[in-house]
Amino acid sequence: MKIVINPSERELAAALARPKLESANLDSLISDVFSTVEKKRDQALKAFTLQFDQVEIDDLVVSEIEFTEAEQAISTELKTAIRIAAQNIERFHRSQENREMEVETTSGVICWRKSVPIQTIGLYVPGGTAPLFSTVLMLGVPAKIAENPIRYLCTPPDKQGKIHPAILFAAKTAGIDTVYKIGGAQAIAAMSLGTETIPKADKIFGPGNQYVTAAKVYAQRLGIAIDIPAGPSEVLVAADDSIPTSFVAADLLAQAEHGIDSQVIFLTNDESYAQEVLKEVERQLEILPRAGIATEALDSSTVIVVEAEKWGDLINLYAPEHLIIMGKYEEQIVQQVTNAGSIFIGKNTAESFGDYASGTNHTLPTSGFARAYSGVSLDSFVKKITYQKITDEGLRNLGQTVITMAEAEKLQGHANAVKVRLDSVFPDIPSDKLQELELIGKVSVLSRKSVEGFIRKDLRDLKPYSSARDEFEGKGEVFLDANENGMVTAYNRYPDPLQQELKVAISEVKNIPTETIFLGNGSDEVLDLIFRLTTTPFLDSVTYLNPSYGMYSVLAKINGLRTKTIDLDRNFQIADSEILAQAAGSRLLVLCNPNNPTGNVIPKDRLLEIVREFEGVVVIDEAYIDFCPAYSMADEVNNYSNLIVVQTLSKAYGMAGLRIGMAIASPEWIAALNRIKPPYNLSSLVQETAIKELKTIPWNEIKTEIISERERLTDFLKSHSLVTEVFPSEANFILFRMPNASDYYKKLIEHGVVVRDRSSQFNCSETLRVSIGSKIENNQFIQIMQNL
Ligand code: PMP
Repeated sequence: MKIVINPSERELAAALARPKLESANLDSLISDVFSTVEKKRDQALKAFTLQFDQVEIDDLVVSEIEFTEAEQAISTELKTAIRIAAQNIERFHRSQENREMEVETTSGVICWRKSVPIQTIGLYVPGGTAPLFSTVLMLGVPAKIAENPIRYLCTPPDKQGKIHPAILFAAKTAGIDTVYKIGGAQAIAAMSLGTETIPKADKIFGPGNQYVTAAKVYAQRLGIAIDIPAGPSEVLVAADDSIPTSFVAADLLAQAEHGIDSQVIFLTNDESYAQEVLKEVERQLEILPRAGIATEALDSSTVIVVEAEKWGDLINLYAPEHLIIMGKYEEQIVQQVTNAGSIFIGKNTAESFGDYASGTNHTLPTSGFARAYSGVSLDSFVKKITYQKITDEGLRNLGQTVITMAEAEKLQGHANAVKVRLDSVFPDIPSDKLQELELIGKVSVLSRKSVEGFIRKDLRDLKPYSSARDEFEGKGEVFLDANENGMVTAYNRYPDPLQQELKVAISEVKNIPTETIFLGNGSDEVLDLIFRLTTTPFLDSVTYLNPSYGMYSVLAKINGLRTKTIDLDRNFQIADSEILAQAAGSRLLVLCNPNNPTGNVIPKDRLLEIVREFEGVVVIDEAYIDFCPAYSMADEVNNYSNLIVVQTLSKAYGMAGLRIGMAIASPEWIAALNRIKPPYNLSSLVQETAIKELKTIPWNEIKTEIISERERLTDFLKSHSLVTEVFPSEANFILFRMPNASDYYKKLIEHGVVVRDRSSQFNCSETLRVSIGSKIENNQFIQIMQNL
């Protein structure tokens, strides 16, 4: 080895230069081999094997008997070693399996990527004196993990027509069951073109001599992929005098024995240490069986002596296939290295570990390719397919961007492919007007969004719990499907999970389509399910009026949501623009209409405007709407994908004890709510009773009576000397103000009448809320109030 000390830039370039590979003269030979294999196929392979390997092969395929013989032929010790190495290689390469995430780049634009195994993998290992069975493991194990459907190995036979038993045993261990006795350029030609016996491969892996390498380059012209551009193996060992010279010398020789063209570079910072290492190399050479090869390789190798501060740059300039770094500077230098195939750190870490058994792959980029290439890994055996899916919402959100770009590139066809879709999905607005309109806020952003887009992302593909009765279809007589108790007959059966009959009854009295109804255990449960379905805990916020129904803040808390409250003025009024401004950014806007506890309403045209303008979901809680049906938004739910109306049978229909609430929304919403609800959320007793009640209750008469009682009570309260303010109500309660309300609240209870003290709510100081009861109850209330 020659020594260069503190080389100039030019000297350094010369020291690090790799021998030029002569390949031009192989070209015609390789193209002959390929064209012969293409024409004569298996017959050509046998002829070439006779010509180049001097052996006649009858059957190219290694038989099961040959595999068994191979297993018997090698020592238990070697078998154990091969198995341990294979296990480590498998562990390391399995760690490269990574799950890729689905990303929603824009709302409704969902993209993801997946690793898909390459269909057919052809592996090659050379035969000859040193059988590279370790390479069989390095290529076979990751292919097994990648699950390439077809994977096989080509390797040349010996003079007896046999394959080295260690290669066959390693192949079996790595999950390669098919081995062909064929080597050289003809093997690569067979893999590239396919023959009667050998399947055409999509990608070819493995090392080989210059013929094999040239054939792999040729194969690429035919569209076959190869693992890595190959060149002679190389190592750069960097060490200081803290490392025993025997270690460094052994590492240099381990590389040099590979072949006469092997590249060995030793980098150190002390000339006398370098001399000691070279003496040690001489000593070890004497006992090395492949001393001849090693000596020749070392003749063209170099020792570079330079201060350690320059090592990092020098290593990056050379970009070694293997880098061994040992001694005082190892940590520091490792941080600086950006170009290397595989790095071996510290005095114990001989390259041999990585060559065989530590688990990393030994198929690495040579000849400076480490600047841009990686070694073989699990990724080498797969390709990554990207996927994308655009929902209606995505089309709306990103369509115009694509059109704008396509038109600017003058690719009208591209623009058109989006336009036709926009026009078909959103026929109401021509696509060229879309962006313009949206920018000036004239178009309903919301009416164009899909229900799907409003559902909490991680619940969109939730598989619902499927109850026994959900699954049942047809005519059953004996029901043994739901673990019910057949020995009892009263309420032993689960109720209809989708409450079909009750929905029909509600649909009739309320005049709304059955498929827009979802039922829950009170509207409290319905509200909770809506919160859960649409909001992501610790991420989203919900907006509601202040004051309003007290459960909203509880629901927000238990669902992990931030809250934004919109303060109403002293008359409980607020401008729409104020509602929209305050609610901006929230996932949910809950508006109680008529509001509880104030009793006033926001007119329907204003609500519609809010629904159109708000980015998220608007829930209109119409618990009290039956007392003022003209304001109901229930008939709008099929027009707005972001609108959900909540109603209840607790108030108007007088069934508070039965606990029946409902969401009225588009069928997509109903389906989504059904996916998350508890399977049997309304008991059969409740369902039956409610159906009967709905058929008999004279609701219109009751409503008239309640309203007239409300008017009577309002008049009474207005005339009461202690009452300072009575708030006009469209609901079945009245909020009124009387100084010292809390005292009067207690006094009313002393006389057996319980009203609600609302004084603690925002802008509700000194207020009581009284529900409209029966005539007798109302009279009692009036009487006691009069006596206060
Ligand atoms: N919303 C509002 C505005 C309410 O006032 C109430 C009950 N007080 C509910 C929902 C809940 O009603 P239920 O659960 O009885 O249907």
